[in-house]
Amino acid sequence: MIDHLIDPSTEQLIDPFGRTVDYLRVSVTDRCDFRCAYCMSEDMSFLPKSEVLSLEELERLCRTFIDLGVRKLRITGGEPLVRRNVLWLFQQLGRHLDTGALDELTLTTNGSQLSRHAADLYAAGVRRINVSLDTLNPDKFLAITRWGKFDRVMAGIEAAQQAGLAVKINAVALKNFNEDELDGMLAWCGERGLDITLIEAMPMGDVGQNRADQHLSLAEVRTILERNWTLRDNDYQTGGPARYVTVAETGRRLGFITPLSHNFCEACNRVRLTCTGTLFMCLGQDDAADLRAPLRASADDEVLRKAIHEAIARKPKGHDFIIDRDRTNPAVARHMSVTGG
Ligand code: SAM
Ligand code: SF4
Repeated sequence: MIDHLIDPSTEQLIDPFGRTVDYLRVSVTDRCDFRCAYCMSEDMSFLPKSEVLSLEELERLCRTFIDLGVRKLRITGGEPLVRRNVLWLFQQLGRHLDTGALDELTLTTNGSQLSRHAADLYAAGVRRINVSLDTLNPDKFLAITRWGKFDRVMAGIEAAQQAGLAVKINAVALKNFNEDELDGMLAWCGERGLDITLIEAMPMGDVGQNRADQHLSLAEVRTILERNWTLRDNDYQTGGPARYVTVAETGRRLGFITPLSHNFCEACNRVRLTCTGTLFMCLGQDDAADLRAPLRASADDEVLRKAIHEAIARKPKGHDFIIDRDRTNPAVARHMSVTGG
């Protein structure tokens, strides 16, 4: 039934809407050393380790996706750098950069473990990373992450830049939390040569508070920022939900990720794999495909390749996040830490 979707010459992953899927995000653990208020509840329960794929299994899954035309991999989590021996995975995947099969291997991290890993990440072929940082105020940082150590993250960013990694800051824009700081963060990033992307809080997972209380529209944020900065539209595109401008005064890029106010699905080129081998074809939908069973069913990759093609054939056209203003129910039941954003 899906044969018409498979280009026999390359087996490239093309979905029913003609979109080529060449970007895979892999969450290597659901665990984290922080408990960010918009991402997790304080008393999160995590998967038993027995359900989590081994690094060897994750490597085989990634390799199979690369065989099927994936050219960009982002390692995420939970916090990817708390997974034991995760550097091994970067080293294995980095080999595909050398052969030219992969264009980019990147990482999204909270920065807590970067000081000790930055140089090894660079050696493995990573050149750009995203570090999540929602405030430059150490007290507010502790309040939003619950467990995070601000100084360690600052040291981590410094170490990453020293190692040669380009760092982009990801900041979730939150009402009554950091709207008055975003100007300062833009200046801080400009001084350090960092790009920054602002993200609207997405209604994913029960975090024990009303999402409507957190929601800050980035359209509003842009208007506020434009009082002090010249924002020039820029046609940089990633196939994702971010829209970019250049901050004329600093020369750095500023991105806006607005899943609630814009529909970015028509150019979507990505799918997300969890650490249990579940493939989500859309961040905003619950449909998922189990790749762990086909992975373990046979040492021959053919079964796995077929399962991946079948999953891509179910990639939906788009999503429709809605923040329910009367209830605290999330639009998507799973937490962001399951798929890694
Ligand atoms: N732990 C790593 C980190 O914080 O960068 C990687 C995983 S984290 C789930 C990936 C990104 O998702 C972070 O930038 C985080 O701020 C963002 N995030 C988490 N929950 C979110 C939510 N409900 N809405 C919007 N962004 C969220
Ligand atoms: Fe951990 Fe990242 Fe979620 Fe914060 S956003 S709790 S650092 S996974």
